[in-house]
Amino acid sequence: MGTVTDYFGSMVFDDRVMKATLSAKVYSSLKKTIDEGKELDIGVANAVANAMKDWAVSKGTTHYTHWFQPLTGITAEKHDSFITPSPDGGVIMEFSGKELIKGEPDASSFPSGGLRATFEARGYTAWDPTSYAFIKGKTLCIPTAFCSYSGYALDKKTPLLRSMEALNKQALRILKLFDNKAVKRVTSSVGPEQEYFLVTKEMYDQRPDLRFTGRTLFGAKPPKGQEMDDHYFGVIKPRVAEFMEELNDELWKLGILAKTEHNEVAPAQHELAPIYTTTNIATDHNQLTMEIMQKVAAKHGLVCLLHEKPFVGVNGSGKHNNWSIATDAGQNLLSPGETPYENAQFLLFLCAVIKAVDDYQDLLRISVATAGNDHRLGANEAPPAVVSIFLGDELNAVLEAIETDTPYKGAEKTQMKLGVDVLPKFNRDTTDRNRTSPFAFTGNKFEFRMLGSSNSIACANIMLNSAVAESLRIYADRLENAENFEEKLHEMIKKTIKDHKRIIFNGNGYDDAWLKEATEKRGLMNYRTTADCMPHLLDEKNVKMLTSLGVFSEDELKSRRDIMLENYCKSVIIEANTMVDMARTEITPAIEAYAADVAKAAAAKKAVSDALSCRYETGLVEKLSVLIDEIAQKTDELDLALVRIKDAEDILDESAMIRDNLLPLMSELRVPCDKAERMTAKSYWPFPTYADLLFGVK
Ligand code: ADP
Ligand code: MG
Repeated sequence: MGTVTDYFGSMVFDDRVMKATLSAKVYSSLKKTIDEGKELDIGVANAVANAMKDWAVSKGTTHYTHWFQPLTGITAEKHDSFITPSPDGGVIMEFSGKELIKGEPDASSFPSGGLRATFEARGYTAWDPTSYAFIKGKTLCIPTAFCSYSGYALDKKTPLLRSMEALNKQALRILKLFDNKAVKRVTSSVGPEQEYFLVTKEMYDQRPDLRFTGRTLFGAKPPKGQEMDDHYFGVIKPRVAEFMEELNDELWKLGILAKTEHNEVAPAQHELAPIYTTTNIATDHNQLTMEIMQKVAAKHGLVCLLHEKPFVGVNGSGKHNNWSIATDAGQNLLSPGETPYENAQFLLFLCAVIKAVDDYQDLLRISVATAGNDHRLGANEAPPAVVSIFLGDELNAVLEAIETDTPYKGAEKTQMKLGVDVLPKFNRDTTDRNRTSPFAFTGNKFEFRMLGSSNSIACANIMLNSAVAESLRIYADRLENAENFEEKLHEMIKKTIKDHKRIIFNGNGYDDAWLKEATEKRGLMNYRTTADCMPHLLDEKNVKMLTSLGVFSEDELKSRRDIMLENYCKSVIIEANTMVDMARTEITPAIEAYAADVAKAAAAKKAVSDALSCRYETGLVEKLSVLIDEIAQKTDELDLALVRIKDAEDILDESAMIRDNLLPLMSELRVPCDKAERMTAKSYWPFPTYADLLFGVK
C-alpha cells in the first residue's frame, strides 16, 4: 500500500486532485467558490463534475451519492450509477454539473418535525463545495446540505454553515476595529476527541439490549471494573491494535487526520483524536469516523459501541469538542498575543466566549441532550449537567485584576494604553489541569466536554458559534459607535467580567458542593434531563438570538425541539420494551430453570439421606423465588406504564411521563434482575455478563 504520505487522502477529490485534473480557469473559479462563497456557474460545475467522475471511475467507482446529515443524527445517502445508455447498446459513464450541484431525494421518510407537509415529499440536497468529495466503497460521495422545497433546513449542515457565517461576519467587524483590515475570513475550527468501546461480535449478538439500544439494560457489577486505573493509556491489546491500524488506514485514505489513539479509563474503552480542522469538515469527518469505526470493527469480529453509557457503573463515552477561531492568515483569536494591543483583542474574544456561555448555558446543554447522554452527565465521570467555564488560575487572576482595577502581579510592569496590565504569555501546562470542567480553556482553545459519544458535533458547534457571534455583535455595535474606542473597550471587558463571572469555576466540577453552589448561590441552570432542557430551545431569548443571526428560522427551531424530544421518547420506549422482553423471555426462565435444578438437587440429596439438611439449596430456591416474583411484578408495572404513555397529550407531556414514570421503573426492574444474576449459575444465565463483555477482547 505504500507509505502513509503516499495514500493519505487517496480517496478524496482534494485540492491536489483538483489542480491536476481541472483547467487553470475552472480551478480558479472553483477556488473562489470554496474560499469566498462565490456562486458557481454551470459551465464550471459541468467541468468539475466531469473531472470528479473521471477520477472516481479510475478508482473503480460506479455510483455517486449526495451525502447528507438529516436530523436522525446519522448520515444518509442514495446511490445513483453514472451509467447512461449509448446508441450502440452499451453504456457510457456520465455525471453533469446539475447532478453535482443539486439532488432530489425523496424526503418523506426523514424527520422534519412538521416542516414538510407529507404531500410535499420532495426535498433537495445542495453541494457544499467547502467539504471535499470522497470515495466510499464504489461510490463517490458528495457532501451536501438538505433542505425542503420551501427553503427549510432539514439537516444539521445548513445551520452549521449559517452559524459559521454569522461568526465570521461579527468577528470581522471586531477585527476591523482593531485595525486588522487584511483579514478576509474568520473560521471556527474543531478537533473532536472520540471515545468508544469495543466488544466481541459474538457476545454482542447474544445481548438484545446491546443490539436494540446500544447499551446494556441489565448486568451486575463485575468483580473488577475500572478501580485499578490500569486501563487508561495501558498497553493496547493485539486485537485492538489491529483494529486501530486498519481504522487509521481507512481514515487516512479519506483525508481524515487521525492522530492520537489510546486506551481510556474503562476496560474495553478507547479514544481516537484527529488533528483539528474547519468546523464543517471536522463535522463531516467525525460522522465518517463513527461510521468507519463500526465497519472496521465488524471486519475484526468486534462491535464498536458509541453509546454514551453502555455499562452502568463504568465510565461512559463522550466527545471532547476542542474549539477555536482563527483568521485566514492563521492567527488564532483565542491565543494570547505578544503585544498589548493583541492582548486586548484576545481579552475581548475571551470575554465574548465567557458572555456567550453564560447567556446561553441552556443552548449548550440542549445541544448535547439525548437520552443516552443523560446517563452520563453528572455521573461523576463526566461534567455535570451544569455548564461552567474553567480558565485556570493565571487567566482568572488577570480577569480579577481587570475587574478590580488592581495591577496584576504576574504581569510585567508596563501598563498598556487600556489600563490593562500586559498579559503574561500563557503556558499550556498552567491552563490544562482541570479535567472536570464542562468547558475548559486550554491555552489557545476551549474544550467543550459535555458532548455524548454518539452525538453529531454539529449541534454543539452551531450553538457555540452562534452564541459567540451574538456576543461579538453586541460588542461591535457598542465599539463602532464609541467616541473613545479604548475607554469603551476597557469598560466593556470589565463589565463582562462583572456580569458573567458566575459562569467561571476553577474547582472540581464533579463535586456535589459545586452543584449546590452553582444552582443555589450562582443561579446557574441545571437541566438534568433532555425532557427538562429541550423545551427551553424555544425560550424567547434563544429564538431571538438564533433567528436574528439567521442561523435558524422559528419554524426550524420548533421542528428541532419536536424531533429531539421524539428521539428521546422513542429511544427510552425501545429500551423499556426491550427490558420487558428480556425479563420475561430470558431472565425469568433462566432463574426458574436454575431454581428448579437446585430444588431437584436437594431432592436427590434427601433421597440419599433424610438427615442431610439441604439448607443451602432451600435458602437459595427461596431467595430466587422471591426475586422472580419481584421481577414479574416490576415487569408488569413497566409494561403498564408503556401502555399509559400512549395517552400522552403531546410530545412535551410524553417526554415528562418518560422521565417521571418510565425511567424510574426501568431502574427498579433492573435491581432484582442484577441481584439474581449474581446468584444464578453462570451456565444458566442467558447472556454474557459485564465481566465477559468488558474483558472479552483479548
Ligand atoms: P488532550 O485534550 O487529550 O490533552 P490535545 O489538547 O493535544 O489533547 O488535543 C486535543 C484536540 O484538540 C486535538 O484534536 C487537537 O487537534 C485539537 N486542537 C489543538 N489545537 C486546536 C485549536 N487551536 N483549535 C481546535 N482544536 C485544537
Ligand atoms: Mg482533551
